[in-house]
Order: sequence, then structure tokens, then C-alpha cells
Amino acid sequence: MSIEVEHLSKTYGQQKALNKVSFKINKGEIVGFLGPNGAGKSTMMKILTSFIQSSEGSAKVSEYDVATETKKVQQIVGYLPEHNPLYLEMYVREYLDFNAGVYKVPKSRINEVIELTGLTPEAHKKIGQLSKGYRQRVGLANALLHNPEVLILDEPTTGLDPNQLVGIRQLIKSLGKEKTVFLSTHIMQEVEAMCDRVIIINKGEIVADKTLKDLRDQKQQTVVVEFDYRVEDAFLKALPKVTSVVNTHDFVYEITFSTSEDMRSHVFDFAHDNKLKILQLNQKNASLESLFRELTTD
Ligand code: ADP
Ligand code: MG
Repeated sequence: MSIEVEHLSKTYGQQKALNKVSFKINKGEIVGFLGPNGAGKSTMMKILTSFIQSSEGSAKVSEYDVATETKKVQQIVGYLPEHNPLYLEMYVREYLDFNAGVYKVPKSRINEVIELTGLTPEAHKKIGQLSKGYRQRVGLANALLHNPEVLILDEPTTGLDPNQLVGIRQLIKSLGKEKTVFLSTHIMQEVEAMCDRVIIINKGEIVADKTLKDLRDQKQQTVVVEFDYRVEDAFLKALPKVTSVVNTHDFVYEITFSTSEDMRSHVFDFAHDNKLKILQLNQKNASLESLFRELTTD
């Protein structure tokens, strides 16, 4: 077991941030920790990385107790904090070199992490000169310096533009081939793009813990289609196994089907038969989306 949390609670003064949270993460899994702002995600991650103490309950990372075996935990975990504290005046290489000294890792590792995180073209620059996406890579490179078994990443993609997002997601996914990854996000698509499993947290409590495969197998899907012209909802509702049609804006429709079979080809045929052009056609995991909405709205 890589991460094991049992009945863990955390109170800040009067504020209960975590309430009897329990979950387990196996070695090699990429697990998304999904929840709205204020749900308790960062608090959980700070406890798992031994930065703060829980008020109640226990947690272990690779069998080490986060409350008592702090040093061991920090050796085994690579942590990207929510507000990644970087020294903007330092050069990328200098910053990593400094931290390599702190962690006592060989200097040769610096080039390895620079390469691994795609920082090579930017490595000679000051951190303050980098885009947000590259700063995030510096944070990841730093978290990877001591080659940890477990990566704990707090909202690793927040604030990135769409291109940077794709790059960081690919990087995290590839890191996940060798490591256990526990990453927080408030964005569902993020979980779909990267994770094997999702743990949903709301108001300090775990409200769902499911594999993405199970969610996909739930017989539901939404196809988002954009035509070049308006279509009556009623025509789209005549497609097989449709449960709802929503005209979200302009000529964009979200069609939900009660089947896991890919329905995009039916939509394509519909467009062809009605002499419509398709401007976009995508499939969404309706199960995760509806689950998240259902569980995190009052
Ligand atoms: P998330 O990361 O999911 O947005 P947090 O773990 O940061 O959530 O916060 C959970 C709750 O705990 C929030 O209500 C937040 O305001 C509160 N909180 C977090 N840190 C502190 C703190 N240092 N002192 C008091 N309250 C805090
Ligand atoms: Mg947070």
C-alpha cells in the first residue's frame, strides 16, 4: 500500500477542514483528489507530506507514519505545493542545485530532472522569466529530485493555458508509469485526462471513491456536437437511446445517451442525412460529471 489514511480529521480553530477521512491508494495508481474549493484537498496533502499534523486519526505513506516518521516520509514523497514557492531571482539550475544540496542528492540528478520535465530549453533562465507552465515544471523537477516513490501534487495545472495544460498532463501521466501519483484538482476533465481512479471530497468528507473504468462502464455518455446550423431538439431526441438534449449555446448540443457504446457515429450519420456539417464532435464521461455535480452541490 502506498498511502493509507484512517479516520483522519483536521480542525483549524473552529473550522473542521477534514472529517474522519479514510482511503487507501495502491502502489502505481494515479488517483485524482477532486473537490470544490475549500473541500479540504490541500489540508489532506499537507498532512500526507508531514507539513502539518492531523487533529485525529492516522496516515501512512509507504508504511511510514506521517505524524512520527516525518523524515522518512519526506524522503519517499515528492510534493508540489499549491502555491509553489519558487525563488524568482534564482536561475532554474541554481534553484535545483540548491535543493539538491538540501536533499543530499547527487548533482548528476539535476540534469536528469531537467530533461525529464522538459526544462532543457529554459534551464539557463531565471525562474521569474519563465511562463507559469515552465514554473510548474520547475516545481515538478524539484519534487522529483530525490526520485521519490510517491508524488503528491496539489492542483498541478491550475492557472496554465491550454497548451501548457496538455504538456503538464502528459508529463504527469508518464511519471505515473513508475510512481504512485496523488493529485488534487477541482476540474473533472483533469481527472479524466490523467487518472485511474477518483476520490471526491466535499466539505471535509469523502463522498465517492471510484475507478474511472467503473464510471465509464456505467451506461451513460454525453456527446457534444456543434453543427453549422440550428436543429430542433426533437429531431436529436429521435436518435437511439437518447435521454436528454441540451442546446448549450449557438449550434452546440449536448446529447446524453443511456449506453456505453460510442454514439458519435450515429450523430455523424444524423448530420449527413440532414445535410448538416459537423464543426465539433466529442464524447464526455457523463457519469463523472453528474456524480460530481450531484455530490458537491447543496
Ligand atoms: P481545498 O484545498 O480543497 O481548497 P483547503 O484544505 O485549503 O481546501 O481548506 C479546507 C478548509 O479549511 C477551508 O474552509 C479553509 O478555509 C480552511 N483552512 C485551510 N487552511 C486554514 C488555516 N491555516 N487556518 C484556518 N482555516 C484554514
Ligand atoms: Mg487547495
